[in-house]
Amino acid sequence: MANSKFEYVRHFELSNTTYLLPNTYIVIRIDGRSFHRFSTVHSFTKPNDPRALSLMNAAAVSVFHDLGGEVVSIAYGVSDEFSFILRKECNLFDRREAKLVSTVVSIFTAYYVSLWPTYFPSTPLTRPLPTFDGRAVCYPTIENVRDYLSWRQADCHINNLYNTTFWALIQQGGMTPQEAEKELMGTLAKDKNEILFGRFGVNYNNEEEMFKKGSVVYRNYGAVPESSSDDKVDEKEDDLEKKEAAGKETSSPAEAQKGKSRSQQKREAKKLAKAEVVIEHVDIIKDTFWEKRPWILH
Ligand code: ATP
Ligand code: ATP
Ligand code: MG
Ligand code: MG
Ligand code: MG
Ligand code: MG
Ligand code: MG
Repeated sequence: MANSKFEYVRHFELSNTTYLLPNTYIVIRIDGRSFHRFSTVHSFTKPNDPRALSLMNAAAVSVFHDLGGEVVSIAYGVSDEFSFILRKECNLFDRREAKLVSTVVSIFTAYYVSLWPTYFPSTPLTRPLPTFDGRAVCYPTIENVRDYLSWRQADCHINNLYNTTFWALIQQGGMTPQEAEKELMGTLAKDKNEILFGRFGVNYNNEEEMFKKGSVVYRNYGAVPESSSDDKVDEKEDDLEKKEAAGKETSSPAEAQKGKSRSQQKREAKKLAKAEVVIEHVDIIKDTFWEKRPWILH
């Protein structure tokens, strides 16, 4: 049977493909579907089950490894969500939105399910099974990406202070969820801090960093030793490039501007790919984090 009769349907698909804007940071955020219910059915401790957060973090690290060294530059997770920031040079799947989003969601979900028994050894994974949604947004500048991450971390803080107080009123104060909700209506941060300290002797500052700040995942490029055997090969390439350059103007304006040869860039990319993926619970709103780790966003 000739296929040509049917092949025209392919054009429908092509004309419906979204290519994400080149040279922008792609943020893919995934979020657990109905995790309020999922967390209840699977008996998460409230307000923060550390096993569930660690499982989210492990699934996020798996996304870094699965996609390889030059795709994700940093990820930030809180509650049932994770945001993955893709490098602006990322050309995976020709930046097709559907391919990128569906692949990240699928990798994350597959690892979440397969790693479940490691983090919940005595809780079988039953229905409702964990599923996630995903979306992609492009941000053109570092400032936009930093503001995006600040937005998520500020949200983490606001929600966690609320939830910590809400659950203290229930678990230690004997209130019903309705009573706790009413008690907290219209309260400011300082009121919640006072309720926690005054009624329950809880100093919010001493709560776990993972709960207060969420989880930051990135490649610790700075910790990688300076030279390796691969570097030797790249140095040879560097020499060749230099010889070529002596004869003619070879480097593109972009390369000249960055002051890096192609092999130097390749070497750095390799080093980055080899760098260990780390999980930290630190402030990413202030400049300090970024000043100390200039390789993450550039
Ligand atoms: P939607 O499908 O719209 O995302 P949802 O029920 O997942 O609905 P979210 O706003 O995403 O709603 O909130 C996630 C909920 O999952 C939290 O409110 C909390 O009840 C629960 N949850 C997520 N992670 C944890 C955790 N580590 N410990 C305890 N509860 C958690
Ligand atoms: P991509 O990530 O681009 O989709 P791919 O390797 O998945 O790459 P596909 O064009 O989707 O490429 O083809 C799927 C391949 O998976 C098939 O070519 C075949 O080799 C293998 N495959 C899938 N299902 C089966 C099956 N039931 N039995 C044997 N091989 C299978
Ligand atoms: Mg949601
Ligand atoms: Mg959710
Ligand atoms: Mg959520
Ligand atoms: Mg395939
Ligand atoms: Mg296929």
